[in-house]
Amino acid sequence: THSARYRGRFAPTPSGPLHFGSLVAALGSFLDARAAGGVWLVRIEDIDPPRCPVGADSTILRQLEAFSLHWDEEVIWQRGRHEIYQQALDRLITLGLAYPCSCSRKQWQDFAIYPGWCRNGQCEANKPVAWRLRSDLAQRPIAWHDRLFGYQQFDPATLGDVVLKRKDQLWAYQLAVVMDDAEQDISDVVRGFDLLDNTPWQIQLQAALNLPTPRYLHLPLVVTDEGQKLSKQNLAPPLAESDDGIRHQLFQALQALDQMPPFELAQEAPETQLRWAIAHWSVDQLTPFHHRAQPSEH
Ligand code: GLU
Repeated sequence: THSARYRGRFAPTPSGPLHFGSLVAALGSFLDARAAGGVWLVRIEDIDPPRCPVGADSTILRQLEAFSLHWDEEVIWQRGRHEIYQQALDRLITLGLAYPCSCSRKQWQDFAIYPGWCRNGQCEANKPVAWRLRSDLAQRPIAWHDRLFGYQQFDPATLGDVVLKRKDQLWAYQLAVVMDDAEQDISDVVRGFDLLDNTPWQIQLQAALNLPTPRYLHLPLVVTDEGQKLSKQNLAPPLAESDDGIRHQLFQALQALDQMPPFELAQEAPETQLRWAIAHWSVDQLTPFHHRAQPSEH
């Protein structure tokens, strides 16, 4: 228990039930928090309602409980936190760091990133607008140390002006995640490698809003036999529900996190597996390679 101030979180988008890849992310952030004697929170990232079928959030919470991944404090839902995100956007506008943009994707299709045409108020009147963050005013490079992937640096000019609020008035992930991590006083973000390249925007936003930057640990990704990230789109099956299936998958998730659990552990109940895993949690054992999902047997 080296840090009473450790606060971690698992922040799933409830676009469907958790699959093996999301279990690995949840487990990694849980173990890192528990091994540090810290607090572990769950936040439901449902800012994009059309992508979130009704009931997927409660399914996810039930799945976490079935794997004995018990969280602290109350779960928060992003839907309904409009005020907080709007205040942040207003602040960025006041600082001259956010601007309205009426351009359509089609207009800038010949460019790799949005070229920033609306930065100086050339945006067309009477058209719906998105709000973007100015990357040309950011510190450069944006750099941080990832606990697994090491020193990272990105040039904001190559990332472009990220959308903060969409034309359809929905909040963008980058703004919501930064505000919520700050509001929940998150000290440690532990999540899948697929989110690593979102981190520079989040750090840029934290700097602009004068918020602290948490530590980051991006976990090795679980991929299919074809090397794609496991996701609902490539039909990753939901997590097991039977006792045997749960034990087996939890064990496989510990293997996917390179924790080398002793094979007898595979037969044990989730609490027993987790007790072992907390006691033995080692970030040094993580390898930055993609891990193939093993066929499951339930
Ligand atoms: N909601 C994001 C997702 O499910 C994760 C956000 C995060 O961990 O920062 O992909």
